Amino acid sequence: MSKQIKTNELAEIVTGLLVRPDLMGELDESATHERFIEAIGQVVADFCGGEINGVAPANQPAGMAPDYINTPYLSVYPSESLPSLEKCVWSAYDTEGWEGHTSEELGLTVGVAPTEAQIREHRQNLQALLSQAYKAELVTTDRAPKPTIEQQYIYGSDGSLCPACGCDMIEGDGINIDCNRAIQEVSCNECGVEWVDIYILRHIQSEDFNPDDPARALDLDDA
Ligand SMILES: [Zn+2]
Repeated sequence: MSKQIKTNELAEIVTGLLVRPDLMGELDESATHERFIEAIGQVVADFCGGEINGVAPANQPAGMAPDYINTPYLSVYPSESLPSLEKCVWSAYDTEGWEGHTSEELGLTVGVAPTEAQIREHRQNLQALLSQAYKAELVTTDRAPKPTIEQQYIYGSDGSLCPACGCDMIEGDGINIDCNRAIQEVSCNECGVEWVDIYILRHIQSEDFNPDDPARALDLDDA
């Protein structure tokens, strides 16, 4: 078996490792954290363009509570691999960082730079994604029908508990078998209720023949 990690869950892990690796108990050496930041930046650049120019360490003493301001920085240069300087994955961030570069000089499509309001809306939409996905997951879990008391009694993993009071002080009488059914009267020594367990014959097993393999049974006839 393998774990099936959804995209929002992977994003959650990467967010944790990038922003608060201390919460994950990972990357506790700042040099390791910086290598991780650079590697993730490189993946983004490989798929969406830009040229990674390394990571500048945080200018905050190690072990300080994060203020989200003095974090390590990923340094990115524009490159021909971008769709456009104005409209690319990096364009909403450090909007003055590429001053002096133009789409023309890189042979890129000249786009329209997003306004501050557009950037704010775009970033808020992105930031809401993880909580939206998680909320959707919780709603789905809530909608799953709760097992009935009977289903819990029959399929529950913690042994048979009294369906009335939930205690484990239940006691069964003798089993009566009637054709393909078996019936057992059961009662609870705690709350006193009585009920009947009904068992249905499902399978047969034999050392002498294989019920699923008639040829095996025929062999036995010959013997
Ligand atoms: Zn009971």
